Amino acid sequence: MKYKKNDFLIDNVEAKILAKKYSTPLYCYSLNKIKENIKNFKENFKSIDPLICFAVKANPNSNLLRQIGKLGLGADVVSIGELMKSLKSGISPNKIVFSGVGKTYEELNYAIKKNILLINTESKSEILQIEKIAKIKKKKVNIGIRLNPNTDANTLSQISTGKKENKFGVSEKIFLDIVKYVKKSKYLKLKCLSVHIGSQILDNAPYEKMLRVLKKIINKTKYRFEYIDLGGGMGIDYENKNKKLNLNKYSLNIKNFLKSFKSKIIFEPGRSIVGNSGFLISKVIYIKEGYKKDFIILDAAMNDLIRPALYNAQHRIIPVKKNNKKAKKIYEFVGPICESTDKFSILRNFQKLSEKDLILICDVGAYGMSLSSNYNLRPKATELLIQNNKVQVISKRQSLKDLI
Ligand SMILES: *Cc1c(COP(=O)(O)O)cnc(C)c1O
Repeated sequence: MKYKKNDFLIDNVEAKILAKKYSTPLYCYSLNKIKENIKNFKENFKSIDPLICFAVKANPNSNLLRQIGKLGLGADVVSIGELMKSLKSGISPNKIVFSGVGKTYEELNYAIKKNILLINTESKSEILQIEKIAKIKKKKVNIGIRLNPNTDANTLSQISTGKKENKFGVSEKIFLDIVKYVKKSKYLKLKCLSVHIGSQILDNAPYEKMLRVLKKIINKTKYRFEYIDLGGGMGIDYENKNKKLNLNKYSLNIKNFLKSFKSKIIFEPGRSIVGNSGFLISKVIYIKEGYKKDFIILDAAMNDLIRPALYNAQHRIIPVKKNNKKAKKIYEFVGPICESTDKFSILRNFQKLSEKDLILICDVGAYGMSLSSNYNLRPKATELLIQNNKVQVISKRQSLKDLI
């Protein structure tokens, strides 16, 4: 993914040609980049040989899931829809973990029927519900318990999940109570302790603290967990400033931690597997003069990519074709939706843009399409998967007919 002369290429295909052929807004993913991310992840954690379960909510496209499954990953799912789609995409049930605070009777029933690796429970009520179903089915169900380690992930508050005020997991006290209860249950087999403290984590310290908390609590349970599921959250370099989580250091910390406990590690990465593989190509509809700036009105909007509106997240914006002319004004990149939060970025020193020019919004492979909507009755964009010159439509643009 680079410029050749002045044209941006995604896996050797010119972005401008893709835009022309498939129209915009257009999601493009590089399969080579996903492969590279998975290889890199595996290499960094080689010495602990973890089970890697891709967090499907980051990008649930079936074609991508199939590719990711083929590369040996399992799935971390948070709904019956994601579970069904993962199974349909060829991911084996014994590599699937089910997370989430509010799994319904129907969802649990289905997961138990499919014999997935683990249901990571998040409350005593959920455990009682599973026990009820297991009893009817005369089965022993493998479960994990998600601990809330009260650890600040030092990330955006909206994507922080491991602090005591968050709804996720159970406190140490409840965790210890539940362990006692499950040990005696005829229908539940306690296999796993799970945690997930948040997303887009760039700093090793929160993970180190989390491991210290886990160590203390596991020692109190005097229980041998077959699995320890450390969740996901590994951050990516959205700003392109080489600010990255040190995976190797995290791996060493875990290796150290495992000296005290003989457990298999599970990870649930989403963003770090697909985030930087995706681009959203968009066309400038109009340029409008504003107060001390120009509004660049794009044909992509918050319904296509909501992260900036939802969390104030920053995504780099780059031109599809470089022209080496500097803009005289500040540009504010916005979408056409009737919300003031429908804006992507305010940039100084962008190149001079004209109407109909194309731009790319970077690193949209995770939580881009998966969070998209039909707000303002806008159809969802086409998604392309690209590898070595080969372009495949993996999801077609919704037609207006679908919507109307
Ligand atoms: C969202 C989520 C993940 C994935 O988080 P990333 O930041 O995308 O790696 C993993 N586990 C659970 C339980 C989640 O909710």
